[in-house]
Amino acid sequence: MTQPQSSDQYRRLRVALLGAGAVGSQVADLLLRHGDELADRAGASLELAGIAVRDVDAPRDVELPKELFTTDADSLIVGSDIVIELMGGIEPARGNLLLALNSGADVVTANKALLATHGTELFEAADQVGASVYYEAAAAGAIPIIRPLRDSLAGDRVVRIMGIVNGTTNYILDRMDSEGADFAEVLADAQRLGYAEADPTADVEGYDAAQKAAILASLAFHTAVPLDAVHREGITAITPAMIEEARAAGFVIKLLAVCERITVDGSESISVRVYPALVARTHPLGSVHGANNAVFVEAEAAGSLMFYGAGAGGVQTASAVLGDVVSAARRHIAGGVGVGESTRANLPTVPIGHVITRYQITLEVNDQPGVLATVAGILSEGGVSVATVVQTVQGEDDPTARLIIGTHRAADQALSDTVEKLAASDVVERVVSVLRVEGE
Ligand code: NAP
Repeated sequence: MTQPQSSDQYRRLRVALLGAGAVGSQVADLLLRHGDELADRAGASLELAGIAVRDVDAPRDVELPKELFTTDADSLIVGSDIVIELMGGIEPARGNLLLALNSGADVVTANKALLATHGTELFEAADQVGASVYYEAAAAGAIPIIRPLRDSLAGDRVVRIMGIVNGTTNYILDRMDSEGADFAEVLADAQRLGYAEADPTADVEGYDAAQKAAILASLAFHTAVPLDAVHREGITAITPAMIEEARAAGFVIKLLAVCERITVDGSESISVRVYPALVARTHPLGSVHGANNAVFVEAEAAGSLMFYGAGAGGVQTASAVLGDVVSAARRHIAGGVGVGESTRANLPTVPIGHVITRYQITLEVNDQPGVLATVAGILSEGGVSVATVVQTVQGEDDPTARLIIGTHRAADQALSDTVEKLAASDVVERVVSVLRVEGE
């Protein structure tokens, strides 16, 4: 069979781009520069019909034809075959994508905030018209993880996902780990270097990771996981002392998004959570440095799989977006209805208290006889069994000692209740830190 020689000989698909910021400008540039190559891969000529922005005169990261810019997103959307949304935020992105789907377009988005809060609405709208929503770039940037979970592992049963899915927090924790630096100091540096936003809340408090966790868990467990079902803790309380103690015990602290299949009262359920956790330095996630992301997937038949790479960055994320655009174009050419989201398993999401986990608890205690026995008694009453205890004396004149207690696995509720009882005990001066251990 003879192949068409240039994009002119393919069917033309009209592509609308909403947003030309860090990611959108790179997507436009690659679409324009690699048009012929993309046409050969997609089997369709991808014609960039226009780019909707707020300010048509704003400077762009790359030079793009002025005549493509418009502030009228709706007119651009109607009549397009593929709409790429790279504006971010909830509105007008949500309304724009609903208009696109209802106008018969397939949509591509990198908008994790929108998917984590209105994903079900968008997927239902797509189902109604037989279109598809593509979102490879919405979790872990350039790393292919959506397609592997949706397609490659569709015949397997995912048991657990542990992801470093926020580059900013990994950058901060990695520098705290390698330099012994303080959280505030590294955050300020990260802001100067452009790794962290002026308002870093979404990253450092775990909101961004929680959105990605909801997206990954929904796919992995064939269940629509709402954002408010994700337990979330950030990294602002992590101190250099905690990092040092983790290191002494062979661990590194990472902000993890954990999505896990668990059995509660005989019923299959899922837990989705984001928190800073201790990970063994020898675990593949222990060696993810800088602003990189990684997603460690455990599946019943496939075993352990690790996906690693750039979790953000304009051009890196554009790679994932364009992969989606090619997929959308192929579907358009092939015809038929789009493949909807598989949510039939509809598993309940359980609160953090049900999760079986292991704690490392650091206490400052009165350095006097009988303290260890009192602490051991409180742990045992709480049904928490001790795996390791390390005691360190603070200094010659200091009347306190530090106890670093590693527990065996127990229900998170039992562990946290026991920590409260320890905190209230006369022999405990201060609960210095409590971290969960993951990846064992
Ligand atoms: P960005 O740099 O802030 O760019 C946003 C773009 O959207 C700008 O061009 C802006 O127009 C346009 N825009 C915003 N509101 C608009 C409105 N109401 N009407 C029309 N245009 C509007 O954002 P980004 O970093 O490229 O991120 C885009 C999306 O990708 C977000 O959902 C983000 O979460 C996701 N994402 C980003 C990365 C990354 O590394 N940056 C990685 C993964 C996923 P003006 O330029 O005229 O203001």
